[in-house]
Amino acid sequence: MKAVVFHEYGDIDVLRYEDIETPTLGPRDVLVKVRATALNYYDVMTRAGTYRPNERLPHILGGDIAGDVAEVGSEVTHLKPRDPVVVYAALGCGHCEQCLVGEPNCCVEYRYVGAHVWGGYAQYVKVPEENLVPLYQGMSYEEAAACNITFLTSWHMLVTRANLRSGEDLLVLSAASGIGVAAVQIGRLMGCRVIACVGSDDKFQRLRELGADVLINYRTDDFYQEVMKVTGKRGVDVVFENTGTETWDRAVRSLTRMGRLVTCGGTSGYQVTTDVNYIFHKQLSIIGSNHGTKRELQTLVKLLEAGKLRPVVDRVLPLTEAREGHRILEGRKVFGKVVLIPEH
Ligand SMILES: [Zn+2]
Repeated sequence: MKAVVFHEYGDIDVLRYEDIETPTLGPRDVLVKVRATALNYYDVMTRAGTYRPNERLPHILGGDIAGDVAEVGSEVTHLKPRDPVVVYAALGCGHCEQCLVGEPNCCVEYRYVGAHVWGGYAQYVKVPEENLVPLYQGMSYEEAAACNITFLTSWHMLVTRANLRSGEDLLVLSAASGIGVAAVQIGRLMGCRVIACVGSDDKFQRLRELGADVLINYRTDDFYQEVMKVTGKRGVDVVFENTGTETWDRAVRSLTRMGRLVTCGGTSGYQVTTDVNYIFHKQLSIIGSNHGTKRELQTLVKLLEAGKLRPVVDRVLPLTEAREGHRILEGRKVFGKVVLIPEH
């Protein structure tokens, strides 16, 4: 098959479009003909070697995948060739206490399709049967790929982990990113005042349309000062954080008493410093969050199919232009998702 492969960690030049063996199936595996793969920032980090490294190279990126079943293993019972499907990317050990309650995203051995096993920057991808769900009704492959990991991650962060409640003030950092546009919409759906932080004014209008009530340009203004102005020095109830080093301290200080900071990553770096004084005096909670569960995905699919949440596709590129996709993501020039389409 054709795939975008890398043989060593590095910058975008390590991504090469070439021939590689099509994966062979185990009895419970399904071979999916990839129709669309959306990019996530962890693709960039995996390529650079700064995400949890892989045991083996060469590697194929891409966890946000929609396509059709091409072939099924001998023990697969619920799927047949040509069924349109979406990939749920979290893989667990299958037998630990987290996996047994349906939370492979918290398994000590958790892995992601595209990060730790070969993903969807290819014509075909191998996925266990239980990691496939039917293609979302009324949605194209591009749209389904574009709202899968990001909406699930943001939902798990805000609704499940941070217990976001109606009437609260929510600060969304990197609001134009894939998870950001999901977080803004979830904040609106939950009845919150959404304060969205982005790097350029030309993204303001589109964020307002998605549900942002207040816009802050973090390049021209200090977002902490702006949050204090907007909230009358109170601070927000919840901060949606995923940038890490660059924003962490001001994100913590933006919280009101009993506020919650929820984080799913550190795109600008993992090392952060905080004055612990803020945490105990204001009784803050710092909450970690990782991907989401298949149960949450079922809830999300209902909301997506009902049009209460909608995917935001920035642009669609042929798979051969994966480097360009990474360049756009690294330059933070996106609004929503970049999607790759393989040729067949
Ligand atoms: Zn497990």
